[in-house]
Amino acid sequence: TAESDRPHIGIVGSGPAGFYTAQQILKSHDDALIDIYERLPVPFGLARFGIAPDHPETKNCINQFTSTAQSERCSFFGNVNIGKDLNISELLQAYDAVILCYGAEDDRTFGIPGEDLHGVYSARAFVEWYNGLPANSQLEPDLSAETAVILGQGNVALDVARILLSPVERLEKTDICEHAIEVLRKSCVKTVHIVGRRGPLQVAFTIKELREMTKLVGCKAVFDPEDFKPVQEKITSIPRPRKRLTELMCKTALDESISQKTANKEWTLKFQRSPVEMLSAPGRANLSGVRFEINDLVEQNDGSIQARGTGVFEDLPCGLVFRSIGYKSIPIDDQIPFDKRRGIVPNINGRVINTGLYCSGWVRNGPVGVIATTMNDAFQTGELVVQDLKSGNIRTKRSPKGFFALANSLISRGVRPVFFDQWHKIDQVEQERGRELGKPREKIINVKEMLNIAYQ
Ligand code: FAD
Repeated sequence: TAESDRPHIGIVGSGPAGFYTAQQILKSHDDALIDIYERLPVPFGLARFGIAPDHPETKNCINQFTSTAQSERCSFFGNVNIGKDLNISELLQAYDAVILCYGAEDDRTFGIPGEDLHGVYSARAFVEWYNGLPANSQLEPDLSAETAVILGQGNVALDVARILLSPVERLEKTDICEHAIEVLRKSCVKTVHIVGRRGPLQVAFTIKELREMTKLVGCKAVFDPEDFKPVQEKITSIPRPRKRLTELMCKTALDESISQKTANKEWTLKFQRSPVEMLSAPGRANLSGVRFEINDLVEQNDGSIQARGTGVFEDLPCGLVFRSIGYKSIPIDDQIPFDKRRGIVPNINGRVINTGLYCSGWVRNGPVGVIATTMNDAFQTGELVVQDLKSGNIRTKRSPKGFFALANSLISRGVRPVFFDQWHKIDQVEQERGRELGKPREKIINVKEMLNIAYQ
């Protein structure tokens, strides 16, 4: 194919969705060229800034992303914020198709009184702090309270609980940031309550994460047997994998040897409670507890279970709250259609109708699912783009296109991209600093420092 006729695809975001979509296109189309734009100087999205430091095996996907980035037909441009440094119409002019893979960077709030009290944090900000995202590296959470409450019962909630309750020696050897280790070493947190608005059959975390919690050294699970007796009776009729998860919760709740284990830290699961207010002593800005409304569970026509307030309230004293009720995408450019209610770019199977845009990952489906879910979703979008190229649904433009059609605009706006081999320099410095500390890497948390190393 003549160089000018080769399809050129722009991807916005270098997390799992961006890289898996690129991988699929490169595999299914022999000529297509791909440019991946990333707002940060460093790639990989939540594979770097979300996945817990003590889950190194889950980060192995980064090896695959690296080999995709090293394909001759794929280029990476870090430090380019789409919607600000370049807008979507510029990208649409320069590419035959543009795929939005920019994730979900905001978080949901309850909108209840007291959410801004000292001691109330978003789980997202906390995770980003210990994982070294530049924007939250200064968070310095105050861990001087003995009791913490996590609102939400998904895997992120369990990640936060595990980091709070793990012996520091267990974390020191991971790629968790040193600033986090220093704060965790002085932490006074001894009890963590993980609270959900529905019941044990509706928890969103998965068995691997639960099992890890039940095995934490120096820490025990204290579940209320009364929560689990009714569940135990239904267990045979629950489909897998929820059955195995529920069995493990029941075993933990009802096995007396577990409750007699000696430990100086503990965690609980609390159910059917919705927070209505974060409490503080009169005139004080510090959190002192959470007021919950107790819920009934009501089965809907579609079989789903909803929580309904009973008008009965209960206060749970604590000095620390983490809100862990999900992430939310934002519109990064006025030109992108956006469903504010669902927090996604509206699409049909990854195609954003009548726009020339496609999407995959969390911005396509909402912030749910693990890397494997995102991978399948990204493969589907990638395949759709290839089909549209092959069927002529996407009409390829003539050159000049791709990054070189945009480079002058970026220069005139004072934006200097970071290429993949420049990321390698940052990567090497991080690994070198890690080696000195006996860990896989020590992340650089300052964008200026990242850029200085990249441009050296
Ligand atoms: P992201 O990974 O968020 O990637 C989006 C990328 O787009 C980011 O790099 C971002 O910087 C970039 N971007 C955003 N805006 C712009 C812009 N304007 N211009 C250019 N670039 C932009 N899954 C597992 O399988 N195992 C786990 O243990 C696990 N742990 C997790 C822990 C946490 C705390 C979280 C939040 C998620 C976890 N997941 C885990 C889920 C997994 O991280 C997601 O499925 C996956 O990262 C979603 O991929 P994505 O590419 O859609 O979004």
